[in-house]
Amino acid sequence: EAPLLKVQDLQTGFKIDGQYHNAVERVSFEVKPKRIVGVVGESGCGKSVMSLSIMQLLPKGAGEVRGGEILFEGQDISKFNDKQMNDIRGKEISMIFQEPMTSLNPVFTIGYQIMEVLRNHEKGLSKKEAKVKAVALLRSVGIPRADKIVDEYPHQLSGGMRQRVMIAMAIACQPKLLIADEPTTALDVTVQAQILELLKSIQEVNDMSIILITHDLGVVAEICDEVIVMYAGKIVEQASVEELFESPKHPYTELLMNAIPKMEEDVEKLATIEGLVPSLTNMPQIGCRFANRCPKAMPECTQITPNLQTVADGHDVACLLYEESIQKEGAIVS
Ligand code: SF4
Ligand code: MG
Repeated sequence: EAPLLKVQDLQTGFKIDGQYHNAVERVSFEVKPKRIVGVVGESGCGKSVMSLSIMQLLPKGAGEVRGGEILFEGQDISKFNDKQMNDIRGKEISMIFQEPMTSLNPVFTIGYQIMEVLRNHEKGLSKKEAKVKAVALLRSVGIPRADKIVDEYPHQLSGGMRQRVMIAMAIACQPKLLIADEPTTALDVTVQAQILELLKSIQEVNDMSIILITHDLGVVAEICDEVIVMYAGKIVEQASVEELFESPKHPYTELLMNAIPKMEEDVEKLATIEGLVPSLTNMPQIGCRFANRCPKAMPECTQITPNLQTVADGHDVACLLYEESIQKEGAIVS
């Protein structure tokens, strides 16, 4: 099946002191129709920059797509101008963020904001029709008393309800792709589970694809079909969710797995990964970017840059532990 989205060799740079530094470094992946792809990694690994690159929402003058292609239904939207992009945003591709309060306008009612989205993309829709649609949308994302809520203001709702409103706005025009950037991070565990369930069900009902960005592999396990692990701007592992959880390969992935919160444990006792993601201006130019934090690092890890290699069907990993065995096998054959 042809991919809905195909990102090829994407490079996104940020200008710091007059010099570009890549926050996303030659990232390639596909999103097939009706699939949920998780993108996981700590903050500062390029996940949000990657999604803002797709949406052309990078901060103007600071961040810039410097190379590669972003093919949406076969068209390279990275070359689209503002007008072309405006037609796509919200209608073909929508995005939701971690903190709905910052994306909702506090001075307008929920209903007004949803109606604006609808009327923006559906010229000729009357106010009355738009309001009926807004109420129906609020119902479809599980908001009780939708006919009342439609006239309320964002601050009158809980965080979970606000995120439902954001989802309603995002799916108002039935986009084919929804990019959800840490949609549950600000919510408590119970609400988090409800929002994930909602995302899964609207994906099925609306036949759309979702890119779910998260720092939590536990969230990926809940609803994703495929997963991409990013570290310091690069993809270090990608596989189906079953394959990744059955047979994680990259040491970073293994550490992320140990960090999955478990219901019965205190958050305080949660395993954390020691050290920090290297900053953009401090990125190792050669070798593995994870080397200074990797429990399995070898001397050559700071000398040789690992490449993404296929280790099993649909399972790629960038780590010298696996490249070595590939090289040895090659030696036997030759
Ligand atoms: Fe660790 Fe070396 Fe693999 Fe990097 S290449 S993840 S440092 S073992
Ligand atoms: Mg982020």
